[in-house]
Amino acid sequence: MNDDCLFCKIADKKIQTEIVYEDEEVLGFKDVNPQAPVHFLFIPKRHIPTLNDITEEDAALLGRMLHIIKEVAAKENISEEGYRVVANCNKNAGQEVFHLHVHLLGGRKFRWPPG
Ligand code: AMP
Ligand code: ZN
Repeated sequence: MNDDCLFCKIADKKIQTEIVYEDEEVLGFKDVNPQAPVHFLFIPKRHIPTLNDITEEDAALLGRMLHIIKEVAAKENISEEGYRVVANCNKNAGQEVFHLHVHLLGGRKFRWPPG
């Protein structure tokens, strides 16, 4: 737990969110400023600042997070139409919260390349 970290506080339930998934290691919750009809964030409960900080030991956790995202996407009925999974890393990608998180976006068509 990092005392200055917003998503550690969310993982610790010190800040309320609308939770869409939870297990011992992972939390999924609704983005407070949704950019699509479905916009959820998935975090490891353990503080990892960015994708640059993951180690080989975290590979299973990250793989499991992708599997969870696939399951939640199916529950939200966006699997067939499609969805986007995004992890922004550092300033060029516009990362704002420095606790690793993966966005699940769906329910509308997205452009490529991203802005
Ligand atoms: P990023 O730019 O990838 O770091 O994304 C950070 C995301 O966190 C943004 O989409 C924000 O809308 C979202 N966010 C910030 N504060 C909260 C909060 N209290 N609850 C839910 N989502 C949040
Ligand atoms: Zn944190």
